[in-house]
Amino acid sequence: MSEAKQPVKVKVSRAALLRSTRLFKYIQPYRLTFGLGLLALLVSSVSGLVLFSSLGDLIDVQTDQLNNEIGKITLFLLGILVLQGLTSFVRIYTFSFVTERSMARLRQDVFASLLTLPMEWFSDRTTGEISSRISADISSVQSTLTTYLAEFVRQVITVVGTIVILMGTSFKLALFMVGTLPAMAVLAVVFGRYVRKLGKKAQEEVAESTALLEEVLNGIATVKAFTTEWWEFSKYREKTDRVVKTGMKNAIARGTFATFIVVFIFGSIVGLVWFGGRLVASGEISTGELFRFFMLSALMAGSAGGLAETYAQLQKSIGATEHLLDIMEATPEIPKPIALKAKVAAPKGSIRFSNVSFEYLSRKGVLVLKDFNLEIPEGKTTALVGRSGAGKSTIAYLLLRFYQPQSGLVYWGEEPVEQMELLIYRSFIGYVPQEVMLFSGSIAENIRYGSVHASKDEVEQAARLANAHEFISEFPDGYETKVGERGMRLSGGQRQRIAIARAMLANPALLILDEATSSLDNASEGLVREALDRLMQNRTSLVIAHRLSTIKHADSIVVLEKGQIIEQGNHYELLQRSGFYAHLLKTGLDAE
Ligand code: ADP
Repeated sequence: MSEAKQPVKVKVSRAALLRSTRLFKYIQPYRLTFGLGLLALLVSSVSGLVLFSSLGDLIDVQTDQLNNEIGKITLFLLGILVLQGLTSFVRIYTFSFVTERSMARLRQDVFASLLTLPMEWFSDRTTGEISSRISADISSVQSTLTTYLAEFVRQVITVVGTIVILMGTSFKLALFMVGTLPAMAVLAVVFGRYVRKLGKKAQEEVAESTALLEEVLNGIATVKAFTTEWWEFSKYREKTDRVVKTGMKNAIARGTFATFIVVFIFGSIVGLVWFGGRLVASGEISTGELFRFFMLSALMAGSAGGLAETYAQLQKSIGATEHLLDIMEATPEIPKPIALKAKVAAPKGSIRFSNVSFEYLSRKGVLVLKDFNLEIPEGKTTALVGRSGAGKSTIAYLLLRFYQPQSGLVYWGEEPVEQMELLIYRSFIGYVPQEVMLFSGSIAENIRYGSVHASKDEVEQAARLANAHEFISEFPDGYETKVGERGMRLSGGQRQRIAIARAMLANPALLILDEATSSLDNASEGLVREALDRLMQNRTSLVIAHRLSTIKHADSIVVLEKGQIIEQGNHYELLQRSGFYAHLLKTGLDAE
């Protein structure tokens, strides 16, 4: 697990607290077990109190103030010890039982929610940010449920219980003791705030350095190729050095905090000894009672000190809960990650962009498409060409409904695509992205991504059509060959053919192909070309084209510039015009 994003403590507002109780629905199914745990906690806390307060009796037995009771008391104390031991086990077991199960459900729900969020949500955040945030938040909630909630309850019971018993033992002495508490509390709050602020800063700095690490791991090939290891290292060193500085500042604050508390507690103990000693001397209380007093006071001081820490942890987990709820309550684009029951037939007819205007929400005010009109005829191949930034991918994303146009409609046949259920609509589309995404796992699994329940034969058939069967069969493990993280163990051409096989298996009504810009060697290029031709045959296809061979084959070429169609026709018609297309071909299709 990445420790990068630590949950941030939030001010416990009523609203946040109320909101975080929504997580209780995860405990709900186990409420009986959880209740048993709480009961065990109660018994073990109370028996702890009894144990501490009975120790004084042992002293009084020694000084003969209680006659021959020593055996009984010791036996009683042993009984309490066993009880406490047992209840501790029950508490830890039951709380873990509940937590493990409810956290698994929470994890599943967060992941499910994440999958249903729209693309906009993801483009606003980095992968590292999302993943480290989620794992840190969940582990914070988890430790609260297993430990801190119980600690908090135990500490409160102990503090209240000890005060009650102390009052019963010697009202005067208890008053003296309790009189010092408020001062301690005020100091603790003031210091606590400062320490918390520093702690938060340190966490953010650690998160930054972890984000850098993840980024470097993702781009390790680029780092190495550009020999920028030193640069990444110096950035990392600067960030981690900053963590040390803040950490030390934090340590000094925490140290001072601890010192104050310790001095204060010991100061009050010295005061107590002095005051208690006088009470024993004057015969107001017995030695045993004084001893009990000290024991309980120590217990209380420990619990009161611990309370601050536990409280801070609870605050943190309320912050974590807020984040998790933010994800789970963000507006999803599909209700749930569910499998489609049956394949629905795609609509007939061509696809039309009708007066579509679109801007990315992250770059408001810049219209990428303005009153855009385009027809993608059924069963034909339409190629989009244009300089980088012209809006080709945006058109593909709008077709995939990753984003919604601000105005205008996209029709498929007679029906606006917006009116079709998103999951069903996307099931009509096959997408071959520029950077082929292979998931870790076998080649077969990767091809099956196109149709999860496809048989072995169907997978093989798709691979044959994609000119991939041959190279796959040459691997010792054949279709079961592991592709390695992000397909690193395969060549570019092989990856592309696997992506084509995947699309072949999906057999979509509409194919969106974002052609790879990197050129392949001639042999590979030929095989990929052939496979693509088969894939696009008689299929409505939109190709973001980067290769002349693809463009030549297209039924219609749409030349884009700044989100506008400036020329349209087939290769030869466009060449004859000697316009922008002809110019593009001369200067290279990918020129900026
Ligand atoms: P092409 O695919 O032709 O290279 P794009 O469709 O990717 O062009 O980009 C069109 C314009 O939209 C560019 O100006 C680009 O900077 C902008 N753009 C693309 N994606 C985003 C995004 N996620 N947020 C903001 N602007 C974007």
